[in-house]
Amino acid sequence: MKNKIAWLVYRPEKKRNKENTFDSNYNIGALVVNNELIKAGYEIGYVTPESANEADIILISFTSTYDLIAYYKAVSKYKHWKNRKFKVIAGGFGLQNINSIKNYIDIAVFGRAEGQIIDIINGNYDYDNVMVLPEIKPIKIRQVDSLYSDEICLIKKNKVWKETFVGCPNRCKFCHYSWARKKVGTVTYLSERLVNKPQILWKDIKKINKYLSSLKAAMDGFSEKLRNFYGKKISNLEIIEGIEHIGSFTGTTMINVYNICNMPNETKDDFDEFKLVLDKCNPINKTIIVLQSSPFRPSPITPMQWEPVKLLPDWHKVSGTTFYSKNNLLAVHSLMNESCWSHLVTTIIERATEQSEKLINTICFSSKLNKYKAEQKVKMLEHHFDLSPYLREYDVEEKLPTWYLESYTPNEKIKKMAVKLKQNLGLAA
Ligand code: SF4
Repeated sequence: MKNKIAWLVYRPEKKRNKENTFDSNYNIGALVVNNELIKAGYEIGYVTPESANEADIILISFTSTYDLIAYYKAVSKYKHWKNRKFKVIAGGFGLQNINSIKNYIDIAVFGRAEGQIIDIINGNYDYDNVMVLPEIKPIKIRQVDSLYSDEICLIKKNKVWKETFVGCPNRCKFCHYSWARKKVGTVTYLSERLVNKPQILWKDIKKINKYLSSLKAAMDGFSEKLRNFYGKKISNLEIIEGIEHIGSFTGTTMINVYNICNMPNETKDDFDEFKLVLDKCNPINKTIIVLQSSPFRPSPITPMQWEPVKLLPDWHKVSGTTFYSKNNLLAVHSLMNESCWSHLVTTIIERATEQSEKLINTICFSSKLNKYKAEQKVKMLEHHFDLSPYLREYDVEEKLPTWYLESYTPNEKIKKMAVKLKQNLGLAA
């Protein structure tokens, strides 16, 4: 008889949709695994943390670090999760550092699981991307050689998803995605099937040949200097040309500009440089820039994984404010900027060690702490815990909390790139 398999449904840390259900959140990785299991004749249900004992095997797909926090909050308080009779199999893009949740999962699958998930369900864990916990061993993130061939039905949107690419060839030095997923497919970056607004590389803005009411593009660094350091080779001139090109079509266009802020060597001058660049832009039609600044995190298996974390300035404090305005150009900070508290918590999860549980427990469950605002919470946590292991710069020869991860680029090569980057940063200081 086949095991009873179920996805775990639990409250997310951040609401992604008005209708916040498993189906409407479109976790494509989970849907692909689901598709593989259904094709093999399995029936898959759902359980909650409370009803987990109803299943033999529980599946979880983590899309981001925030999911790990939500999962810890959802299950760690239950005795039947600590002494569980069911097996928990977890995977997903958010599963990078296993340490914060290692006591609550049994099998961790790193990278793409299609083609092996049936075997794993049946107890064959003999793969170099599969970790059988509690032992932590080196693993190799699994890649694919070709795009997923099946179409996936997105129920709530009445749409079909078809994979058009994996990975990105640009290899920005901070970007876990491009270091963890090898490029497959000819398309560079395109996800208009899934989102209302086209999402494109900045260099492709000039290829747009019609009016768009909105689009998304990443700049990832306030100044040309920062972008050059960290591999996002977009010049100030290209920023100006992109904005003017978008503004050449009749109608108002909003550009959601994704940005990385609080880079290791960033200063106020870098933000000022961006305002000077806007000064030189003269779009013919109304163009609104919504700048969404996500603070830099030293993501595992990237050349920047050894870099320090700067919690301040807190760009959440300026969320929704206008920072530049003239004739046809308006620039505002996004309402979605993360606070220094969210930055700190996610960094702790990404750099957690086996000794971090007390700290993570406090973050998740301290009612006293959670009464305060972001900056006060950071100060209180700093007062009670040594946060330097999570925030400090590491030497490239030190063992990192995610020492066990390796991807398609050998770790030695990433280390050499990190040494070069540190030398360049030192020369520029
Ligand atoms: S940050 Fe964007 S452009 Fe750079 S490697 Fe990642 S996906 Fe590609």
